[in-house]
Amino acid sequence: MATTTVPRVGHLIGGELTVPGTTRPVHDPGQLDEVVAEVAVGTYDDVDHAVRRAHEAFLTWRHVPAAERVRRLLTAADALAASADELAPQLVREHGGLASEAQSDFTLGAGFVQHTASLTEEFLRPLQFDDEEGFISVEKVPRGVAAAIVPWNLPVVLAMMKLAPALATGNTLVLKPSPSAPAALALALSRMAAHLPPGVLGVVQGGADVGAALCSHPLVRKVGFTGGTETGRKVLGATGGAVKNVTLELGGNDPAIVLDDVDIDAALDRMLKGVYTRGGQICFAVKRIYVPRRTYRRFADAFCERVDEYAVGHGLDPGADFGPLNNEAQYKKVLGLLEQTRDSAAHLVQLGRKLDPGGWDNGYYVLPHVVRDAEHTAPVSREEQFGPVVPLIAYDDERQALEWANDSEYGLGSSVWTSDPDRGLALARRIEAGCTFVNTHSSESLDLRMPFGGIKQSGIGREFGISGLSAYVEDHSIRRLK
Ligand code: NAD
Repeated sequence: MATTTVPRVGHLIGGELTVPGTTRPVHDPGQLDEVVAEVAVGTYDDVDHAVRRAHEAFLTWRHVPAAERVRRLLTAADALAASADELAPQLVREHGGLASEAQSDFTLGAGFVQHTASLTEEFLRPLQFDDEEGFISVEKVPRGVAAAIVPWNLPVVLAMMKLAPALATGNTLVLKPSPSAPAALALALSRMAAHLPPGVLGVVQGGADVGAALCSHPLVRKVGFTGGTETGRKVLGATGGAVKNVTLELGGNDPAIVLDDVDIDAALDRMLKGVYTRGGQICFAVKRIYVPRRTYRRFADAFCERVDEYAVGHGLDPGADFGPLNNEAQYKKVLGLLEQTRDSAAHLVQLGRKLDPGGWDNGYYVLPHVVRDAEHTAPVSREEQFGPVVPLIAYDDERQALEWANDSEYGLGSSVWTSDPDRGLALARRIEAGCTFVNTHSSESLDLRMPFGGIKQSGIGREFGISGLSAYVEDHSIRRLK
């Protein structure tokens, strides 16, 4: 693999990337002996500095006409899209995904900003009432400095889901990348910041301590968080007492219900993308599949046959269908679930092939697995695996499948698979989730017109479109009597 210069990345404060003092190395999850970035270690003082600069910038940015903010955001989105070719390989070496996926993280991120920008002016138009007593104006005003905390799996898109609505509506933003994918995102953000007034967009690098400091900073008025449910609880703890608005996009354990009339081959063409893309490391990946008992064997055989075609290797290897897991904790978690499953009555099937068997132990690689004859109550069915393993669970009737699908603390995505569109829609309406697909379940079918987010332990609030913009404003009601 070609060696490249290792970037040294600081914080982005007041529009400038700082020269990093103390740094920590970031390793390639697909080639662990390679350091791919040196990244600044953030402190409370860095957080305080970035937030104060963002607050100063807010006092002006909030009064910039929406059309001008939108114009600047669109230019920043162009800069993001233009950085894709250069920064995508760096992103692959940090998060472990495929080159094409890293590329699309930048282009989809730019598209997200453009879409949000296109809605902003209409969204911000005040609601006004004139009557004989006087006049009422309901105006949408920004909250102040927003903090964005993002995970590693789709770092650019997830950052844009907070940046675009926050900045378009007149807030300023300080973002904390994940320590597991920090450099490419920060470099891209610094290019976007070049098109914005200093301080409007800041970045502080660091882990849990920096995240917690951001959440509890008194000048931060809004937190947009994407990550695991456990971390989301800590974010609520750090913000709750301070009365701050929070959007939480958390973990999921998405069910897919296969109905008895399904065309198995056609369903698998789409369903497998929802299971194994990015090695299952997507919040709304298909994480448990309910299959009618009478077609179970046929479905499971066809499923395993298709999964066996997957090749696993480094994200920059064009032959790879997916890359390694991103980090050691996730790797150990998935190996632990596989171990538990091996010890159970279920039948764990390892499939696929290693692209580089010699380098296999130098990365967090896991082959695709299918759990046949899985129990609905098994840990591999109950927990968010976030890896290339999925349980196939036999059910006796539709009522049982629905009950099991809803029997989860999570409620992010979900899907129904059927040849009958009306039957699919009727069942979709009874699933407890933020989003339910019929005959699809992957990022290819996400549409920006669909508010995105979860219920139960999968989160609070929605991102995308008008719902996403609404999360960054407050109504200011003004009444003037004659
Ligand atoms: P994580 O919860 O470990 O980390 C997410 C971010 O929170 C990171 O930037 C991390 O440094 C920061 N953080 C850690 N402790 C913190 C604290 N105490 N206070 C504030 N910030 C803190 O998650 P991860 O492993 O990076 O990502 C995987 C998880 O994210 C999965 O559970 C996945 O389902 C979820 N996710 C959800 C969505 C969604 O839209 N619902 C999207 C992508 C990922």
